[in-house]
Amino acid sequence: MTKGISLIGKSAVIVCLAGLAAQAQTTPPKPQQQPVPLSVEALKGGAYWVRGGSGANTGIIIGKKEVVVIDAKMTEESARAMLAEIRKLTPNPLKYIVLTHSDGDHVNGLSGFPRGPAIVAHANARQDMAEAFQNPKMSALAPYLPSETLTGDRPLNIDGVRVNLLHFGPAHTNGDLVVYLPDQKIAYLGDLVFIGRDPLIHRHKGGTSFGLVQTLRKILALDADTYISGHNDPLTKADVRGLLTSIEEKQAKVKALIQEGKSLDEIKTAFGLTEAPGQTGQRRPGFIEVIYLELTEKK
Ligand SMILES: [Zn+2]
Repeated sequence: MTKGISLIGKSAVIVCLAGLAAQAQTTPPKPQQQPVPLSVEALKGGAYWVRGGSGANTGIIIGKKEVVVIDAKMTEESARAMLAEIRKLTPNPLKYIVLTHSDGDHVNGLSGFPRGPAIVAHANARQDMAEAFQNPKMSALAPYLPSETLTGDRPLNIDGVRVNLLHFGPAHTNGDLVVYLPDQKIAYLGDLVFIGRDPLIHRHKGGTSFGLVQTLRKILALDADTYISGHNDPLTKADVRGLLTSIEEKQAKVKALIQEGKSLDEIKTAFGLTEAPGQTGQRRPGFIEVIYLELTEKK
């Protein structure tokens, strides 16, 4: 038995080395980018968050009679994997799919869901999705445009769990929603918070860095102690506060440099940013440039 295992081990090593040799001949060798398997982590009071799979973290809220999903993963396969995990937790039907905003890593898995649950989003997010889904490559998503939209705050009626949908104005996009569970003190934030990289502001979707500051202040004012973002492990209020401070410091520094008469390139250099060759005009503005554009537009 032991011998057998060691033999299997050896052959696996040989296969693995053969694989490396084959890879070495084809340049460049790409790192393995297998997505982490999807897994569901319990929070409290019927609330869960889902890590792994393809696309951003998602949320699940299980009420007495029904289920709410927050964001839809990026592929049908991951959406189905999430549905399979939900079925392990509860037989309750899925009533709502709430979208925190319109980015593909949050909505492109929608076509892996059955038709029937209401799809809820901010009206501006629906508009972005309607434009994106006109692409023939995304035709499978066309029937999954949000069926219910909102422009302000709204409570979601599910039995057993109080769920509030909140919109604090343009920030990451102009159609962001926060899903707030006051009894559990949990808020699902979508991409309003990134820790470990610069905030992402989609100017082409009406996002603004100064709007993000306002939104983060309102997020901090919630009676919450657990924040679920699209791309981090669960966060605390201190994490969100730290992010707010760092954004405000960057905005103040850009403002001061503009007042000193510095150009955008000089400001980027002051932040240690260098433009990758050939990228000019090819990419969306980074965070410092977004701040610069907002400050100079206002004048
Ligand atoms: Zn996003």
